[in-house]
Amino acid sequence: MNSNLKYLQYPESRDVLFVFGAGASHPDGVPLQRHILPMILNDDEIANSDIGKIVIQFINDNFAFDSATNDYPHLESLFLFLDHFIQQNESLSKTYTNSAIHKIKEYLIKLIHFIVNKESDIKKKTYHKFWEAVEKHNTNISIITLNYDTLLEQAFEFMFKRIGYLDYSFHLMNYNKSAELKHFNFWRDPRQPVESEPQIDPVPFKLIKLHGSLNWKYCNCCNQTLLTPWDREVDLKKGKLTWYSKKSDTNYEYVCPVDGTEFDTLILTPSFAKNINRQVVTQLISEAGREIRIAKKIVFIGYSFSNADVHVRALFKKHLHPDTEVIVINPRNSKSLELKYKSIAINPEFINSSFENFVEDEDLLKRVF
Ligand SMILES: [Zn+2]
Repeated sequence: MNSNLKYLQYPESRDVLFVFGAGASHPDGVPLQRHILPMILNDDEIANSDIGKIVIQFINDNFAFDSATNDYPHLESLFLFLDHFIQQNESLSKTYTNSAIHKIKEYLIKLIHFIVNKESDIKKKTYHKFWEAVEKHNTNISIITLNYDTLLEQAFEFMFKRIGYLDYSFHLMNYNKSAELKHFNFWRDPRQPVESEPQIDPVPFKLIKLHGSLNWKYCNCCNQTLLTPWDREVDLKKGKLTWYSKKSDTNYEYVCPVDGTEFDTLILTPSFAKNINRQVVTQLISEAGREIRIAKKIVFIGYSFSNADVHVRALFKKHLHPDTEVIVINPRNSKSLELKYKSIAINPEFINSSFENFVEDEDLLKRVF
């Protein structure tokens, strides 16, 4: 046998911690939050689907909008409205009972899931270049991302095994070796020894997805998460998470292999307050805090610190050391954005550049890595 088991180890401190916001996924096709609702309301496939009809009817009944002038409600206000009835345990009307409201919220999340997945399936050029820069300049990096799309992981493929392994930084059901999980435990746990050829030295990369991920399926019964790296489909007819079997040419519904419970999505909605207590998110927040504390340099890319992200602000406020270098990369750094960063860091450096330009600019890459 020419391979042996290796423990992947993290260095004591991190050279660079990257923080990705929506502006990082946008160049590879992921819609910005303000574009998502208009897209949901104007997508034929959604309009003709069972769950799409229910959600669109709800929006029509409760929000006025004008597609001619492109005036739509904010996604956030939709969630806040739904969450109001959920939190108060009230019904809105005899049609929109409290349990109907719960269902509409879950359907809306699934439609977002559908739209983001649809738009982002093919292109991932910018993230690919980012990983090339990691390989070339410095592999002692970690990533915190506020994006729930999976482009960064898809773009990682050429690095897998040869350069390293992705570490989602919490326990996945895939790591269980039991018989019922045999279809899923191909995913390596980078915190356990991995098989590796003697001549290569792979490293682990923490990828902390604070707002969840499209390829995570959460079981509300055993409180575990299943990673389905390549299945991100939502069946719009039934509103369920599905996976496709080539063998039988059928879409199967995902249920928990351990207890048979139907899976939920695991993405944090803009009005996060109610589900931030979810075990997984709490763990990721602690892990993010540790990374912020040990980072020599933190580089924000395409992140605007929206007011809804108070938990992210709290995280940096608590853990960011005054000596840590902070760099902010954005195509336009407005005064209000600069002030947001100055309220968490003493002397942040602002670089006017888009993510696409950043990954092409050798001088800038050398400086930032
Ligand atoms: Zn379960």
